Amino acid sequence: MTSGCSVCNGLTHLAENCPACGNTMEDCGKINSYVDPYGPYEDTTTEEETLTGDDQCVHFLQCPNCDQSSNYTVHRDEI
Ligand SMILES: [Zn+2]
Ligand SMILES: [Zn+2]
Repeated sequence: MTSGCSVCNGLTHLAENCPACGNTMEDCGKINSYVDPYGPYEDTTTEEETLTGDDQCVHFLQCPNCDQSSNYTVHRDEI
């Protein structure tokens, strides 16, 4: 899969700290349904696509120590 996200491309490794225990959280991959432009709830709002389209990639992070989970949004501008 090609993407503008350097994390998905393996160029960057996400190393966010867990807000609960401070452990390094693991990247469980991108959340596809959130940004899928061809999803079942397709509507014609182009502004919406601009905000949640290819310019950002939302990753699901989970702490292996305490199971805390969070989302991390990677913006293509930051890459
Ligand atoms: Zn990504
Ligand atoms: Zn934790």
